[in-house]
Amino acid sequence: MKPAPFDYLAARSAGEAVAALADGGAQVLAGGQSLVLEMNYRRARPRRLVDINRIAGLDRLEAADGTLRVGPLVRHRAFESQAVPGPLGALLRRVARHIAHPPIRARGTMLGSLAFAHPAAEWPAVVTALGGRIDLVARGRRRTVAAEEFFTGPFATLRRPDELLAEVRLPLLPPGCRVGFAELRRTHASFAQLAVAAAVTLSGDRVAAASLGLVNAADRPVRARAAERVLIGRPLDDAAIAEAAGVAAGQDADPRPEPYADAGYLRHAVAVLTRRALGQARDGG
Ligand SMILES: Cc1cc2nc3c(=O)[nH]c(=O)nc-3n(C[C@H](O)[C@H](O)[C@H](O)COP(=O)(O)OP(=O)(O)OC[C@H]3O[C@@H](n4cnc5c(N)ncnc54)[C@H](O)[C@@H]3O)c2cc1C
Repeated sequence: MKPAPFDYLAARSAGEAVAALADGGAQVLAGGQSLVLEMNYRRARPRRLVDINRIAGLDRLEAADGTLRVGPLVRHRAFESQAVPGPLGALLRRVARHIAHPPIRARGTMLGSLAFAHPAAEWPAVVTALGGRIDLVARGRRRTVAAEEFFTGPFATLRRPDELLAEVRLPLLPPGCRVGFAELRRTHASFAQLAVAAAVTLSGDRVAAASLGLVNAADRPVRARAAERVLIGRPLDDAAIAEAAGVAAGQDADPRPEPYADAGYLRHAVAVLTRRALGQARDGG
């Protein structure tokens, strides 16, 4: 199908973009890798597209003062490079390689993925688990929302229609933090059926901090806080990993049955993927 008729604005500044969003009926065009599809299926019928691709400076990707700042035009592909230092860079590189395939990663953006909130998208769960904070800007208004609060259901967030996602900030992981990422998908380029991201910091041989994110394991991205608590203060050994995996599957996850995977299968898969992600972290990931 073809999209319903729409107006098009190539915004030249963030101010021009948010002014256009304030008029109502408008949608931001970032990478277009989800929105154009939605428009072609006529599930999205914006009256006006506000293209932000020509706005200078929105592609800022900067790691400084313990924080990674990501602008609205940072493409998935940027995270495949060495642009982000340390363990956070290692985790984001591993995750980015699981998103779709190279042409889509060259256009699609992290902030577009957060705004779209596809339940099987990787970034929402990763940003949630890492304690990300999202800046939302509208005409005369700016607010910051924790990623853990931002997602409210499949394709649903706290973003108001006139708000532009202006930046997401992630704390840089400390040197020595170990990371892992494991994903289950039906074909190479399809969305994740499930995935688990892990970042674990040891103090001596004990876990001092842990972040676990579950992709597509509930109606929204999950930070697996109960499983994280299991790990704190313990060596990252087989017993702790197995217990945390069981708790992630049994307490943190709330999977929705699918035609080809019932909830029992999905919970089992969450446990397997959590074990794999934590195993990678233990083994020096
Ligand atoms: C074949 C295929 C496979 C894919 N596989 C995966 C996958 O495995 N994992 C995955 O995570 N994704 C996957 N995607 C989706 C892809 O990652 C998209 O790039 C992403 O979901 C949206 O980013 P975008 O920049 O393209 O946003 P767009 O398509 O431009 O926009 C998506 C939505 O977000 C809004 N939006 C975008 N940016 C902003 C902003 N800054 N402020 C406010 N609203 C904004 C738009 O208005 C629109 O509603 C796939 C897509 C395709 C076509």
